[in-house]
Amino acid sequence: MTLTSKDHIELHEKYGAHNYAPLDVVLSRGEGVWVWDVEGNKYLDMLAAYSAVNQGHRHPKILKAMQEQLERITLTSRAFYNDRLGLFLKKLHDITGYDKALPMNSGAEAVETALKIARKWAYVKKGIPLNDGEIIVALNNFHGRTITVVSFSSEPQYRYGFGPFTPGFVFVPFGDADAIEKAINWKTIGVMLEPIQGEGGINVPPDGYLRRVRQITEERGVLLILDEIQTGLGRTGKMFAFEWEDARPDILILGKALGGGVYPVSAALADNHIMEVIKPGDHGSTFGGNPVAAAVGIAALDVIIEEKLPERALQLGSYFMEKLKEIESPYIKEVRGKGLMIGVEIKPEYKNAKPFIKRLKEKGILVKETHERVIRFAPPLVITKEELDWAIERIREVFTQSL
Ligand SMILES: *Cc1c(COP(=O)(O)O)cnc(C)c1O
Repeated sequence: MTLTSKDHIELHEKYGAHNYAPLDVVLSRGEGVWVWDVEGNKYLDMLAAYSAVNQGHRHPKILKAMQEQLERITLTSRAFYNDRLGLFLKKLHDITGYDKALPMNSGAEAVETALKIARKWAYVKKGIPLNDGEIIVALNNFHGRTITVVSFSSEPQYRYGFGPFTPGFVFVPFGDADAIEKAINWKTIGVMLEPIQGEGGINVPPDGYLRRVRQITEERGVLLILDEIQTGLGRTGKMFAFEWEDARPDILILGKALGGGVYPVSAALADNHIMEVIKPGDHGSTFGGNPVAAAVGIAALDVIIEEKLPERALQLGSYFMEKLKEIESPYIKEVRGKGLMIGVEIKPEYKNAKPFIKRLKEKGILVKETHERVIRFAPPLVITKEELDWAIERIREVFTQSL
């Protein structure tokens, strides 16, 4: 007996915790920018698993690297060396310029790792009294779901019921460099930001913001930590979003597309003078840096470079954004973003974006709202202009039809 979408949804609802509210589509196959549901309906994936599928679904080179690794060895733990991880770490160094990387699995773990590195650096190297340090974060941030990470979320739902929280975080408004300058004091370890806030609603800060934050943090001797889990690896039209403003952070956090859409791979990167505070036993992860993760990570990075995905995101992103802005819609308040990370904000009087998302799905386009009224368009970076044109036609229909 083959199960229908309805059957699968019932299984999820009955046996799974209700920690998500998915669109009612049950996917069973993916290829490049396209996905199919169990009934065989085809959709253009314009969410790309929150930018974890920048290279497209089931990229042959990434699958091959994983399959070959599966034939050899999968998990060694870090109690022993393996013959893949060193090559992955070297590739990360070659691409980013950072001396060292600390590999983890999920994005939230890499964020926690960056926080641990930063805190220890502050106590061991900078001389902040032990356990007194503070890290400045932005309102509306999203850095993951662990208790420490939601300890510095400004989103009530992410926190409600999950206290007590980890202390040592200070909020400033996103996009306001002066607020950061004012917030820095003797306790400040560093500043952690997303270059563009993703889950917060595709919030693009004013030009010059990151450049200024980099100057301030350098002058004041505090760390700049950038979470490029979503903005990194080509999404905004550069390999890393910080390149737009020459704001190379002291600690860079990567995840999502680092796993090529097939396997969780994340990392925190820093130069030696910072990373050297981490000693054997300070931090770790059983699966972090395993041979499959390393093989996948190498291939995922190779594909981004060989297929010039940042350049594609730059060209196709500006084309797509222009086309979206041309749509004369009574519903759209604003179109904003960078590269292929684009948000369409619905006017407040329409309350939420759900009706538009449902209609886009009926026309064969999968997207999801973030922050109620913002629809994120972030397709795999391997999308073609023809596929974007196909999407634009349908998006225009949805945003010009009466509700
Ligand atoms: C997705 C995301 C995370 C969390 O990654 P997980 O793999 O879901 O833990 C952290 N920061 C940013 C900016 C993200 O987009």
